[in-house]
Amino acid sequence: MPPRIHLSLPHMGGREPEFIKDAFDSNWIVPLGPNVDGFEKDLEAFLRDGVYVAALTTGTAALHLGLVLLGVEAGDEVLCQSFTFSASANPIRYQGATPVFVDSEPDTWNISPYFLEEAIRDRIKKGKKPKAVIPVHLYGMPAKMDEILSVANRYEIPVLEDAAESLGSTYKGISCGTFGDLAALSFNGNKIITTSGGGALVSGNETFIRKARFLATQARDTAPHYQHSEIGYNYRMSNICAGIGRGQMFVLPDRVKRRRVINRLYREGLSAIEGVSFQTEFSSDYYSNYWLTSIIVDPSKTNGVTREDIRLACESANIETRPLWKPMHLQPVFKECPFYGDGTSDRLFENGLCLPSGSILTDVQINEVILNVKTTLL
Ligand SMILES: *Cc1c(COP(=O)(O)O)cnc(C)c1O
Repeated sequence: MPPRIHLSLPHMGGREPEFIKDAFDSNWIVPLGPNVDGFEKDLEAFLRDGVYVAALTTGTAALHLGLVLLGVEAGDEVLCQSFTFSASANPIRYQGATPVFVDSEPDTWNISPYFLEEAIRDRIKKGKKPKAVIPVHLYGMPAKMDEILSVANRYEIPVLEDAAESLGSTYKGISCGTFGDLAALSFNGNKIITTSGGGALVSGNETFIRKARFLATQARDTAPHYQHSEIGYNYRMSNICAGIGRGQMFVLPDRVKRRRVINRLYREGLSAIEGVSFQTEFSSDYYSNYWLTSIIVDPSKTNGVTREDIRLACESANIETRPLWKPMHLQPVFKECPFYGDGTSDRLFENGLCLPSGSILTDVQINEVILNVKTTLL
């Protein structure tokens, strides 16, 4: 059996150990230090002028702190894209608030501006204005940010962008992760670049980011003893992990390019097949890092072959594929939460499959995947 072809594995650039060695040589083996500061600066320079970054332990921690900074408390409601990974929604619960899930629209697979407005109006009518909205750029595809921001602004609801999958993606030439009042990035092992585990909070509002760094280091007041006037968190990124991040920043543009090449190879290999379609940039406004190339398989056009048939066939060839995220409104843990939509994300989940897309994969491996998918379908 050939070695397993994974969805998305870490892909080191080579310079990461230099920064880790610096940390050892200077004994900065703590959750702060020169690599943390350097990594934040690198991210700020990469994203956009005038944004500030706090490096944290995980993307989930970044989303949680984002909600804390927006003042989300027990009993509040927070709007959240339903079609996403559970980490987008869990932090709403950490705050004791209720997620209100919103369906996707079919162009980008991300939060529907139409149902977002429906949800806001209905929640207000029922007596509670939502405290924040969490759109996601799923699989790297930018959400319809103009429309989302215009709805959010109309009702004066702050936006916390979940950009965990979309570092390197742009909408109208502007980096994903710089549209919201706040945004979360992730550097988990499976993301486009990694620090093994890690995340960051991004904002154009420097006060938010200063406050995030304060809260992420146990909210210590200035005093010789340990004094606290607020509840703190232990969410700051380790200086070792940040060293990996600094090394990875050198290769981030290459990683985006490679994932886009992989996406193109899949399109060339599969798009002629009846019943197979791709998550696709809706117009030239959208530039996806194509973190995971994702297809939709329509069994009514494939003589009944389903995405599950393809997944099982790939599995027996030692190729890892995965159904699209199961929407949050279908998750047992969130079954009591309100949902606004028309079933778009249900259908995407039913028929969608993520293909191996790691930048570390070779063309030969991608062709192997294409061959297996094709053989199942033809
Ligand atoms: C990975 C991911 C997260 C969480 O990031 P971690 O760093 O793993 O905590 C949040 N949202 C989405 C959409 C993700 O894919």
